[in-house]
Amino acid sequence: MFTALVVGCAVAGLAVGSFLNVVIYRVPRGESVVRPGSHCPACAAPIGALDNVPVVSWLVLRGRCRHCGARISARYLLVEVATAALFAGVAARLGATAALPAELAAVATLVALSVIDVERLVLPKRVVYPGLVVTGLLLVAAAVHDHAGGRLGEAAACAGAWFALFFVLNLAAPRALGFGDVRLAPLLGASLGWLGWRYAVVGFFGANLVGAVVGIALIASGRMSRRQPIPYGVFLAIGTVGTILAGPAAVSWTTGIR
Ligand SMILES: [Zn+2]
Repeated sequence: MFTALVVGCAVAGLAVGSFLNVVIYRVPRGESVVRPGSHCPACAAPIGALDNVPVVSWLVLRGRCRHCGARISARYLLVEVATAALFAGVAARLGATAALPAELAAVATLVALSVIDVERLVLPKRVVYPGLVVTGLLLVAAAVHDHAGGRLGEAAACAGAWFALFFVLNLAAPRALGFGDVRLAPLLGASLGWLGWRYAVVGFFGANLVGAVVGIALIASGRMSRRQPIPYGVFLAIGTVGTILAGPAAVSWTTGIR
């Protein structure tokens, strides 16, 4: 049963990752994620269903378009594999719980946002808001199913607290933390807060610690100048998903906090 859940979520992750690739490519260009169907970015030839199987098609075609031979970025493969691995990991951590779909929705949103943030240094509202709405509705459904109004309240409180904290951080250091990060904060706070306020606290410090360490390392090694904006959303995503995956081990030290 448990193995079936993890494998099932991994397979679902491949399909979701394939859709996230469409989101990552089209949303920053202002295109619809629904129409037209998949097509080669170079020659615009439609990609048939058989050439659109996650991971397999990319490998069989060796990362090239069947029609024009243009290179298809390895990013497509990586996003699908990463989404599948994260879905499997979160399913293994949470098991067959009512909130699993909500947490997977949050993780999928963060995968798409991370790639877009690295490539373009933006966190598009057209990804953040749908991700927040879907995750929120799935958390409400989980609360109804589990009769867990208290947990829903905790998730909402953490979402509000993360938003307020990021709002203040944005005022204090707008260059380090843009308003896109403030908009993203409720999604992070809610997905962690459902697991308990301790997760939201650890996730907050974990994300900012990762961001600070990587940022300082990049500046110290001369790969980046102090004035350059950094894709902070990526660190927030790593801190959040990392905390979910680490589970009780991540929050054990907070049990001394009253
Ligand atoms: Zn082509």
